[in-house]
Amino acid sequence: MGYLDEEVKRLQSIIDSIEGRVRDLETKQFGSSSKKTTDEIRMLLIGPPGAGKGTQAPKIKEKFNCCHLATGDMLRSQVAKKTTLGREAKKIMDQGGLVSDDIVIGMIKEELDNNPECKGGFILDGFPRTVPQAEGLDAMLKSRNQTLQHAVELQIDDALLVARITGRLVHPASGRSYHTAFNPPKVAMTDDITGEPLVQRSDDNAEALKKRLATYHKQTTPVVSYYKNTGIWKAVDASQEPGQVWNSLLAIFDNDKAKAEAAGSGILNKLAGRS
Ligand code: ADP
Ligand code: ADP
Repeated sequence: MGYLDEEVKRLQSIIDSIEGRVRDLETKQFGSSSKKTTDEIRMLLIGPPGAGKGTQAPKIKEKFNCCHLATGDMLRSQVAKKTTLGREAKKIMDQGGLVSDDIVIGMIKEELDNNPECKGGFILDGFPRTVPQAEGLDAMLKSRNQTLQHAVELQIDDALLVARITGRLVHPASGRSYHTAFNPPKVAMTDDITGEPLVQRSDDNAEALKKRLATYHKQTTPVVSYYKNTGIWKAVDASQEPGQVWNSLLAIFDNDKAKAEAAGSGILNKLAGRS
């Protein structure tokens, strides 16, 4: 091998080592490499009943191949099975109150520990709903050496929610939701995917909604402040049509990716003495 070949080989090994070091620095800055930031998602959706959490979450799940954990769906499954917890929870849910923090924290922990889909990350929908739940989640993630990337608030006026909630139809087994006017199923009262019947939730009436909204403003609005203090809070206008809401979510994910890439090139710029 001539001098030139030797020199190219030597420079290549220096470049490989520098690239490895830059990746390490990016990981330190973001908690994961820029690639992983887009591959793995750890986020939550906060919003009043009817904001669109359950409509958007399956799309995020599809994009990132992660798990979608909806405490409302988990509780309704207990109600359907008529377990002791289900019987207790049903009374509270129909009254528009909140099930105890310990119970829902336990449910989320169980899923994060055992649900294989959560290996690709998670979207939490309807959890945390109180500050103690947010603190419980922090403790859980800390013990797993994980951090949250986004706490997305779906913002919408209460006045728009009555029509959304009273027209909502759900497929109990999957949690898929439809709307009699805004997103009707192909065949009336029938799930598009399984052909099974759709139902109206027992708490989806104007009276229970009033109580659920009061509970939301009292107990869950402080959760928004909690995440504003951590710096991962982002807001989306949830009164837009569903496709626009999805675009707003994509913009959040893309911005995250762009930031990670900018940090990567920032490090390279510094190395090159360009900053
Ligand atoms: P929505 O989709 O209308 O916001 P959910 O399906 O998330 O409602 O929740 C339905 C009900 O289940 C709530 O009104 C509450 O009683 C109970 N619930 C769901 N998640 C929680 C939670 N994180 N903490 C306490 N109660 C919860
Ligand atoms: P959440 O899970 O936040 O309680 P859902 O996603 O179940 O809310 O949506 C509540 C109802 O409103 C459903 O019937 C759904 O089809 C409908 N919906 C969801 N997003 C929109 C939207 N952007 N515009 C109009 N209707 C919507």
